[in-house]
Amino acid sequence: MGAWSEKIDVGKVPENGTNFDVIVVGGGPGGSAAASYHSMNGQKVLLLEKEIWPRDKICGDAVGGKSLRHVKELGVKTMIEATPHFRVDSILMSSSNGTEVKIELPKEAFEKMEAGYSLPRIQFDYMMFKRATEILHENGGYVMQGFSVTGVKIETEGSVQKIIGIDGKTKDGELMTFSAPLTIGAGGYNCPVAKTITETVYEEPMRDIEHYCGAYREYWNNVKGCEGDSGAIEIHFIDEVNPGYFWIFPVNDGTVNVGIGMVISEQRKQVGIKKSLKKMQKDVIANHPLFKGRFENANLVEGSERGWQLPFGSPRKDAPSYQPRRSAMAGAMCIGDAASLVDPFSGEGIGNALVSAKLTSEIFDKNIHSDGFSEESANKYMKDLWDKLGPELTNSYRLQQVIKRKWLLNWFMKKASKKESIREMMTEMIAGKEASGGVYSKWFVIKALLLP
Ligand SMILES: Cc1cc2nc3c(=O)[nH]c(=O)nc-3n(C[C@H](O)[C@H](O)[C@H](O)COP(=O)(O)OP(=O)(O)OC[C@H]3O[C@@H](n4cnc5c(N)ncnc54)[C@H](O)[C@@H]3O)c2cc1C
Repeated sequence: MGAWSEKIDVGKVPENGTNFDVIVVGGGPGGSAAASYHSMNGQKVLLLEKEIWPRDKICGDAVGGKSLRHVKELGVKTMIEATPHFRVDSILMSSSNGTEVKIELPKEAFEKMEAGYSLPRIQFDYMMFKRATEILHENGGYVMQGFSVTGVKIETEGSVQKIIGIDGKTKDGELMTFSAPLTIGAGGYNCPVAKTITETVYEEPMRDIEHYCGAYREYWNNVKGCEGDSGAIEIHFIDEVNPGYFWIFPVNDGTVNVGIGMVISEQRKQVGIKKSLKKMQKDVIANHPLFKGRFENANLVEGSERGWQLPFGSPRKDAPSYQPRRSAMAGAMCIGDAASLVDPFSGEGIGNALVSAKLTSEIFDKNIHSDGFSEESANKYMKDLWDKLGPELTNSYRLQQVIKRKWLLNWFMKKASKKESIREMMTEMIAGKEASGGVYSKWFVIKALLLP
């Protein structure tokens, strides 16, 4: 273990009942980034995290180019580079009939150390949270860890309901309450702020198993073909996990993150809830002709076997209000997994957590919103968020639908192995720093796939 195993000193506890400009619920990458951005804008911020660092987060551990822009802006990039990490230069994909496609990330981005990294989340999240703590302390903010938000406070003014703060408790059981014109929900896929907005206030669904993915990861050492500190991360669309994928992501010092993920509704339809992802992964590692040799001398890191869920950002059919689902209301905005923004094809969620974190800081202004963050501003956030991320999330959803059918997947991979324009599209999807319109247009995708 390195510096990230040390305790983080979060400083003084604020007085019970304090009023802030912004309260952030959840100190994952999204929450840490949001707290930092608002604090850098001069807001008095309170960042609340229920776990105590160092804390793990179940993930594939790949931090893409989209994230690195924010990681750099927040001053975390040099911290990462001073710790062991794997530099990703390409993504190797394979389909069930054995066709392989290698998506090279831009050479220039790799040389400038902006292509992407993979490193354990226990390490990445620690640095994001630690940096947020420093930024908040420099700007008069407060940070609490081991503080669980248990309730969201709502005020009703005429016909409008407004979130005005939170209730929660410390690890010692002390009950505390805080208020602010803006509360940011960054508590992941079970975020209490997101639950309040969707289920309690708007009576819209929060969890949708057609768009939620179950995933399971383990750490292994000594996996053949994963040596060194730079190279490819691997995504394998194999029969045993269709639709979904089996991944092999080297992370640092010979450790490899190995996992499996599948949309929950498909998992239930195809293999039943009896066959767990853990069992599926065990079978693949022990018996699959492409992998069993590679794991022959490998050893599992005991205790690393854990599962979690990914809330995808795929467009919902007949969504009751905003796509992919409602993520804001008067007094609150949700970001990252709390806003269901994970890419439905690649499973990448850190990048969109950071993009949405920054967007909240561009929309909230304490001078304009001192009496409360208005419903109109909340609606603007949801519109801007979907304008920014909707095209790429929709495109990724189309690709997810393609890989669902085995013959179509094999056809697509064969096309991709031969056609530069498809590989370029996939490079942009995976390595793009920000959403880019042209590549995500329906016609581009159809042309790329159908024209010779
Ligand atoms: C198996 C798996 C593999 C994945 N692989 C990748 C990958 O390789 N690359 C990638 O980019 N993404 C990947 N993802 C998605 C990625 O992990 C998430 O999208 C990302 O963590 C979202 O960040 P976040 O800050 O929104 O939420 P989280 O990282 O979930 O952070 C939420 C934080 O809120 C805290 N919290 C929750 N409830 C409360 C409460 N009541 N009070 C206070 N605090 C609370 C939690 O403790 C946590 O620290 C993967 C996900 C899974 C499950």
